[in-house]
Amino acid sequence: MDLNFSAEDSAFRDDVRAFIKDHYPVELHGKIEEGEELSKEDFLKWHKVLAKKGWIAPAWPKEYGGTGWTAVQRYIWSEETAAADAIRLMPFGLTMVGPVIYTFGTPEQKAKFLPGILSGDDWWCQGYSEPGAGSDLASLRTKAERFTGDDGKEYYRVNGQKTWTTMAQHADWGFFLVRTDAAAKPQEGISFLLIDMKTPGITVRPIITLGGEHEVNEVWLEDVIVPVENRIYEENKGWTCAKFLLAHERTGIAGVAASKRGVERIKTVARNELSEGAPLLANPFFKRKVSELEVDLAALEYTELRTLAGESSGKGPGPESSLLKIKGTEIQQRLTELALEAAGHYGAPYFRSFGEGDNEHPIGPDSAHRVAPSYFNMRKTSIYGGSNEIQRNIIAKMVLGL
Ligand SMILES: Cc1cc2nc3c(=O)[nH]c(=O)nc-3n(C[C@H](O)[C@H](O)[C@H](O)COP(=O)(O)OP(=O)(O)OC[C@H]3O[C@@H](n4cnc5c(N)ncnc54)[C@H](O)[C@@H]3O)c2cc1C
Repeated sequence: MDLNFSAEDSAFRDDVRAFIKDHYPVELHGKIEEGEELSKEDFLKWHKVLAKKGWIAPAWPKEYGGTGWTAVQRYIWSEETAAADAIRLMPFGLTMVGPVIYTFGTPEQKAKFLPGILSGDDWWCQGYSEPGAGSDLASLRTKAERFTGDDGKEYYRVNGQKTWTTMAQHADWGFFLVRTDAAAKPQEGISFLLIDMKTPGITVRPIITLGGEHEVNEVWLEDVIVPVENRIYEENKGWTCAKFLLAHERTGIAGVAASKRGVERIKTVARNELSEGAPLLANPFFKRKVSELEVDLAALEYTELRTLAGESSGKGPGPESSLLKIKGTEIQQRLTELALEAAGHYGAPYFRSFGEGDNEHPIGPDSAHRVAPSYFNMRKTSIYGGSNEIQRNIIAKMVLGL
């Protein structure tokens, strides 16, 4: 992949930069920089702007609503959005189930589900994990029994429990892995169902994370009736869709451009804001940690670029998605560790000022307020999308042939 920008690429970058400057919602400014918790409305505001412009799904084929950008243009796009501290959109529709639907779905399924993903009208959640079926996902037990309804149509009756379901409290639809053949080998008895989250029998219960946020949930399914036409691909072949989706999910988790922006932010803080006496960035130990992070990030960026180049020549993400996931999430976690170090005592999570009527306002510089919750929150990254230990197993098998 040639990274010397052509005149067209430079012009494209200028267009993207100008568009973000003019159209990124003013009310969202500063939210990423301050590490604020984002609401569904926040995500939707930016989503709608991009959907209107036709820039919402750069990775999709053009015929389904993609941009038709080259790999270099997609790289420029992610660099520019990260540099502008723009919100990273929720992946469940755009990065995860969308590609499954346009790859494995029927024409009717594509026509029914893809427009809502692109417009942002339908929010999705992922019903894969269960208590007892996380790393060993194929052992999942949520059961879907097929029957013919009084109207003569075919349905599944779904019973079971999913867990860690991110944003299920806001989701209109969920994509679920369910067991449709208990007698077959684990991977061969699973189907991929799209379920309307308003269907009777679905209960969503919050799980509050270490950082105090409501991000994940338990989802209970009790006699949930789902039309068979909502199944993607063949019955008992859902594992094929599941694996395809996971490769897309893992590639998307790497977040290189956002981490590059994160390094810049830490350097600014360590150079100025929190320094009492000599700037922290002048401390050789701290400086070395930042430099090592930058070196690892540069190496990761090149791996991501190779994957992007492969994708643009029609190669789907393979085991390199596991590599991107491990290194990307390790770097994200190291960033939050450095941010905590840079914040020093101002980063203590419950260190509040106790002035009259001022209990809610943490003391210290703005950059320090969300550092600890963000540190706690980012512990998740080495677990979700398949834990990093499992990714190492995949690399050992698929790349090293062990
Ligand atoms: C914040 C967050 C959001 C999530 N969102 C979603 C979501 O939206 N939808 C969804 O379906 N799931 C979601 N998950 C679930 C996530 O995919 C699982 O947590 C993950 O796959 C690990 O499964 P587990 O939690 O059951 O841990 P376990 O599988 O019980 O693993 C426990 C530990 O043992 C290790 N381990 C297990 N097996 C092996 C092995 N063979 N070799 C080496 N080490 C092993 C693991 O690496 C881990 O450290 C989310 C998780 C988190 C933390």
